[in-house]
Amino acid sequence: MKTLRLLLGDQLNHKHSWYRNDDDDTLYFIAEMRQETDYVKHHIQKVVAFFEAMENFADWLRARGKRVIHWRLDKPDNTQHLGKNIARLVQRHGIEKFEYQLPDEYRLDRQLKQLADDLSIDCEAFDSEHFLTSRDELAAFFDGKQSLLMESFYRYMRRKHDLLMNGDEPEGGQWNYDQRNRKKWKGRPAIPHERGFRKDVRKTLQRIEGAGVKTFGEIDPQHFSWPTTREDCLTVLRYFCEHLLIHFGDYQDAMDPEQVYLFHSRLSFAMNSKLLHPREVIDAVIEHWQHNKATISINEVEGYVRQILGWREYMRGVYWREMPGYARCNRLGNHMELPEFYWSADTRMNCLHHAIKNSLEHAYAHHIQRLMITGNFALLIQVHPDQVDAWYLGIYIDAIEWVEITNTRGMSQFADGGLVATKPYISSGSYIHKMSNYCEGCRYKVQEKFGEDACPFNSLYWNFLVEKREHFEHNPRMAMMLSLLDKMESGELEALRARAKRIIRCPDDF
Ligand code: FAD
Ligand code: SF4
Repeated sequence: MKTLRLLLGDQLNHKHSWYRNDDDDTLYFIAEMRQETDYVKHHIQKVVAFFEAMENFADWLRARGKRVIHWRLDKPDNTQHLGKNIARLVQRHGIEKFEYQLPDEYRLDRQLKQLADDLSIDCEAFDSEHFLTSRDELAAFFDGKQSLLMESFYRYMRRKHDLLMNGDEPEGGQWNYDQRNRKKWKGRPAIPHERGFRKDVRKTLQRIEGAGVKTFGEIDPQHFSWPTTREDCLTVLRYFCEHLLIHFGDYQDAMDPEQVYLFHSRLSFAMNSKLLHPREVIDAVIEHWQHNKATISINEVEGYVRQILGWREYMRGVYWREMPGYARCNRLGNHMELPEFYWSADTRMNCLHHAIKNSLEHAYAHHIQRLMITGNFALLIQVHPDQVDAWYLGIYIDAIEWVEITNTRGMSQFADGGLVATKPYISSGSYIHKMSNYCEGCRYKVQEKFGEDACPFNSLYWNFLVEKREHFEHNPRMAMMLSLLDKMESGELEALRARAKRIIRCPDDF
């Protein structure tokens, strides 16, 4: 063997140019590592999904005639030290060159650079051939500009990739149809059944439990429903195009206690593990829309494309522009503990109860639940962003630092002082009531501001504006809220703040 190629668990890109040629003298190496299962406490479904997908990928490579070493957690050869594993293989197989794909996480990027430096053989890093931008493209795009406005980056991406464009004009005449994408779901239109799978993952689960990996959350190991092969992922993509795209945009922000996925695609794990390429997802969606323009309107497809071509690439660019400092930012100086109920869903606030319960059961919540329920509450009670990050990084099937931290610290917790979000994403109960059916079944009353029955979000919201005012004083998007605050009668404000302080002190009592 001449070349050893390392594959990380989120580098399962079937289309990578590495696999195009015959390479009898190349050995591929993929391993289940405790450094990955233990850097944060993960949801059990997340660990299972990655291990299953890695195993399937190794099988796919073997079926193509590649030489693959796949070390599971319990393989005695697996030292659980990446450097030692590589050194062992180099020696055992007479390897002359070590190759790897550029990782997406800063932590691994540093580790692999060091590992390559320490090896006495040639080393080379390759692009992962997954993203539609290079690591530093966003930084170059915003060079010299005051703010990192996602919308301008998104328009640049639309033009650059000629997607949903009519010449130099956006398809349909508008770049963004977000105003139309704010409908509340009231039981109609019907939501098609989830296109899940019923896989038996008991062996993988036993291996994880047998090794003593600490996880949380629920799993049904005989009916595991996440896609972990390329075929599964393509099935979910087709299913989305045929059954869900038609209402994706309209109900993108809607929430319902009984509906976990609504019209969302469930493709984030497929893309983040690289089983699907973002461009093939975008192309499939646009192609389906082009054949069904009579029934699917432009806001549905544009709304979806923006998430991937815009937000996903944008977050990756922000990550590489801002790391490693981003992982420490806490511009609002928040320092409270994450409530215990984030790990149990044991709270009487119905919106939080359902958003967390769904997350524990499915390792999933959609964007607005993450942003406007769990994220909103954590920000209003001023939880330290380290704790918020650790929770989001652990609980979701798709959570990988480059996209988790930018969404959590930046978009949701405003810990970067407004680099990603143009204003803090906070709300009182009225927004939650407008977009969901949570309040109907809640012990608290969403219209009430005072008293023991009042919705906790209401007092927390005004309290937050008072306590963090200095950070938004000059933000035009906050001007209206601050002027309402100024008009509030002082006794009223004091009563609100007294209740907010009680909630912040003991959130688990509510
Ligand atoms: P859909 O709603 O069907 O959207 C389609 C795709 O668009 C997603 O699969 C995803 O790839 C992309 N997308 C949508 N929104 C975003 C976004 N804000 N940033 C980047 N890509 C986006 N997404 C992750 O992939 N990993 C994370 O760890 C993650 N953490 C988040 C934390 C917070 C606090 C918030 C507010 C959002 C987070 N997101 C994260 C973004 C978003 O919530 C998920 O991508 C989405 O819910 C995944 O479900 P879906 O595939 O059904 O998405
Ligand atoms: Fe959530 Fe308040 Fe509505 Fe209850 S009343 S579900 S706490 S927003």
